[in-house]
Amino acid sequence: MWSTAREIAAGDTVIIWLTRDVVQHLVVTPGKDFNSKFGNYRHSDFIGLPFGSKVGSRSGKGFIHVLRPTPELWTMALPHRTQILYIADISFIISYLDIRRGSRVIEAGTGSGSFSHSVARSIGSSGRLWSYEFHEARAKKAREEFAQHGMSDIVTLTHQNVCKDGFNLTDAADSVFLDLPAPWDAVEHAKQALRKDRTTRICCFSPCMEQVLRTVSALNDAGFSDITMYETLLRPHDVTQVPVLQPISEIEDKLKKAEEIREIKRLRQIAAGQRSHENPHGEKRKRGVDINEQEAPAVTEAEDSGSGKRLKTDDEMEDATLSQDGDVSRSLDAAPTHIAHAGTSSPAPPTKISVSKAITEVRGHTSYLTFATLLPPMPQAPPEDAPSLGSETV
Ligand code: SAM
Repeated sequence: MWSTAREIAAGDTVIIWLTRDVVQHLVVTPGKDFNSKFGNYRHSDFIGLPFGSKVGSRSGKGFIHVLRPTPELWTMALPHRTQILYIADISFIISYLDIRRGSRVIEAGTGSGSFSHSVARSIGSSGRLWSYEFHEARAKKAREEFAQHGMSDIVTLTHQNVCKDGFNLTDAADSVFLDLPAPWDAVEHAKQALRKDRTTRICCFSPCMEQVLRTVSALNDAGFSDITMYETLLRPHDVTQVPVLQPISEIEDKLKKAEEIREIKRLRQIAAGQRSHENPHGEKRKRGVDINEQEAPAVTEAEDSGSGKRLKTDDEMEDATLSQDGDVSRSLDAAPTHIAHAGTSSPAPPTKISVSKAITEVRGHTSYLTFATLLPPMPQAPPEDAPSLGSETV
């Protein structure tokens, strides 16, 4: 896949890294220019530079980085012909389908080839990816790209409707990945294409729960087992460096205290929730862990029944926390918060610490991933009147 040479040559596909959000690709073609708001460049200027070079613009204002493509970068830079899979889902699917060097994999549809590139790298030249796409123009374009990226020996692309015509394969694949609007219509075909001499896996990628339910029914009917649905969500961490205004041990103590306060509040909320489920006769309907029999939220002092530890009131605890200096109390709002010491290798106390703040609201639903396993058929029991192996006939 792609050039493995150290230096960029004419005809190479390269990734142009402008900013973290603006990543493009181009094929280095002498005579062509690359123009952007970060300056103007001649493709011929890239030839002979090592991949990864920082290149200044012709005017001297602005620069870009010219990188060797990887599947991750290709997913960031590829031309979108369809919705695509991104790296969080791709890596999860490859791992859970147990795709590795030498694996034999089916995917449908090919779409923009985002998933295909990662699979091709994972399986290597000893593996095989059978990719299916029923949209003729998309199939043609993806085939051209696979050839240009040196993947033709690994990927076989077929222009075909897999729901109607299946995969033209029997007992061949280790795993199947379906990114289709109606994956349930392809489940029986997938079963035929999967190997029967070992355990195999399937994954179906669908954005709505109705599609998941239909797929689960089809997988059940076809005899798949271990059917499990996952969703991958990314939780970004915002990492900043803040000056150390007090000893780090003090800051760590405050952070620990803040964690404790959050935990205590959480337990009190659960306790309050339990009380709100009491019936009119005062009997408790238990939900979850029984954590506090006291009137915890209203009283000034309560006891955590688990640890026997005295708990302060919410106000006392907030006072303890909010008396911090600005930077630290800002980081106390985050859950979970981690600190790392900058320059800990030197004996002098560090002047800055890195504080990471997890963004609490996690957005970015892409799709649900429904995985299932196909076990090899049980060996047939011999007919009752057949002589057993090793028995002697007298
Ligand atoms: N996984 C791809 C990627 O990462 O780039 C994106 C796949 S895209 C969302 C779905 C593709 O499936 C479309 O290109 C569509 O044309 C194709 N498709 C839909 N139904 C199909 C079918 N029955 N047989 C083959 N391809 C199909």
